[in-house]
Amino acid sequence: MTKHIVVIGAGIGGLTAGALLLKQGYRVTVLEAHVYPGGCAGTFFHKNYRFDAGATLAGGFSAGGPHHFVAQTLGLKWPIHPVDPAWVVHLPDGRAVTQWADADQWRAEREQHFPFAEKFWQTQEMLADVSWDISTRPFPWPPESIRDLFRLGGSVRPQTLKSLPYLTRTIGSFAPTDDLMFKTFLDSQLLISAQATSARANALYGSAAIDLPRRGVNHVRGGIGKLSETLVDWIRSNGGEVHYRQQAKHIEITNRNATAVETKKGLRVECDAVLANLTPWGLSELLGENRPKTLKTDVEENLKPTWGAFMIYLGIDKEKFFKKFPGTATHHQVIVDGNKPLGETNSVFFSMASPDDPDRAPEGEVPVTVSTHTEIGQWWQLSKSDKGAYAARKDRYAENMIEALSAALPGIRECVTFSTTGSPVSFQRFTRRPQGMVGGFPQESIFKARGPKTGVRNLLLVGDSIFPGQSTAGVTLGGIRVARQTAKLLR
Ligand SMILES: Cc1cc2nc3c(=O)[nH]c(=O)nc-3n(C[C@H](O)[C@H](O)[C@H](O)COP(=O)(O)OP(=O)(O)OC[C@H]3O[C@@H](n4cnc5c(N)ncnc54)[C@H](O)[C@@H]3O)c2cc1C
Repeated sequence: MTKHIVVIGAGIGGLTAGALLLKQGYRVTVLEAHVYPGGCAGTFFHKNYRFDAGATLAGGFSAGGPHHFVAQTLGLKWPIHPVDPAWVVHLPDGRAVTQWADADQWRAEREQHFPFAEKFWQTQEMLADVSWDISTRPFPWPPESIRDLFRLGGSVRPQTLKSLPYLTRTIGSFAPTDDLMFKTFLDSQLLISAQATSARANALYGSAAIDLPRRGVNHVRGGIGKLSETLVDWIRSNGGEVHYRQQAKHIEITNRNATAVETKKGLRVECDAVLANLTPWGLSELLGENRPKTLKTDVEENLKPTWGAFMIYLGIDKEKFFKKFPGTATHHQVIVDGNKPLGETNSVFFSMASPDDPDRAPEGEVPVTVSTHTEIGQWWQLSKSDKGAYAARKDRYAENMIEALSAALPGIRECVTFSTTGSPVSFQRFTRRPQGMVGGFPQESIFKARGPKTGVRNLLLVGDSIFPGQSTAGVTLGGIRVARQTAKLLR
């Protein structure tokens, strides 16, 4: 009988792994709590706007990239088009550094702004080349079996060895971070791509992460949620099942194997393997008393909370905006003060949908997603104890973010036609990620990276909590690995 795999969650990681297993002949059922797919890379409908909930730009579609591999394997086409420049970084001293996708333009740009840092960029590019090259081959990191070790051995090439001296180093260990504006620039890029700044971000991972603009980033027509909708359509038209409004509440374990998943609505699906597109905290809740000791210790003792995000979703008057800022990029990152920690409105990312993308906003408008990293604790404390203070904090964050954007795009305030906010509390509600923790774990040491194993033989994690972590490209790479690992254990 055909083996049956249940995927809990229709995020990019879960859908990718599910689709690849369906392609290999397995029966696949995806259970999604929400009424649309995509999670943090979803697009929601609100008052005639289609806002990207979290992620706005997607990389990894060029030859060798993970999304490209998935498209080739499944025979599907992604609704994307490239964005160049990827974004513009506005530094506190008034400098605007453009993240060109084009390598020559980027070289000229960095030479103009940071002429003393050329040696750093050369090392970063070498390490990025090694990391991106290795990721095009089966790369089961961290290894979880002897077979993984052999596969890893097989993916090593002579050029890979050049990266060995950097395996345990941080980006800050070879970057000229004594220049405050350079450090601010570097830290802001690392925070959004590796969830850690130069003092802690791993050299290899961080180098690959800050190379993202050069590897090509894309707008997704209709909103980033169309990536997961494309996967859902493919799964359904190839005999798989995707059920919305089916929040898993319990994973049944029999003889140390996951044997069925039950949803809040009483659906019970028996299966041969479960892929949990969840954080370790989310998985722990579903296993309850059955959670393995390692997972229990992890969520109760070892793991520190990850970042949350505070968001403003804006409607923007297109005509006014482009009159004020003719020819400007659609994405801007603003850092207010280089002497203060990033996040908490001191660093803000502005993403405008492609202005010619139809049906994403009322006539004459365009939707914009603005985000800042935030610690989750205070939001939860206030939302439970003092609703007034919680609402006031939201207003203050939104105001600070508009103020920050105004420094880079003076007069942006007058272009705003609509505004609503989202906090970690909203992220928990809409992505079911406990406490609204997003972005996966900071990529500080590749030797502490988390793999898919959970302690239950046929239950694997997928998504941005496992290596290589966040981004649609990252969770797709993880999904490819998890699909291979699942097929192996079901053989
Ligand atoms: C503010 C922000 C900005 C970002 N910007 C970018 C960007 O520009 N580019 C980029 O590439 N990445 C970006 N990212 C990161 C990227 O969005 C994520 O890393 C990635 O989308 C996570 O995918 P995932 O597979 O882990 O699934 P998730 O996005 O976590 O989705 C999981 C899904 O599972 C469902 N679910 C959860 N629990 C249950 C349950 N019990 N039963 C059923 N269903 C359940 C959820 O509803 C959700 O649909 C950003 C993230 C954030 C928060």
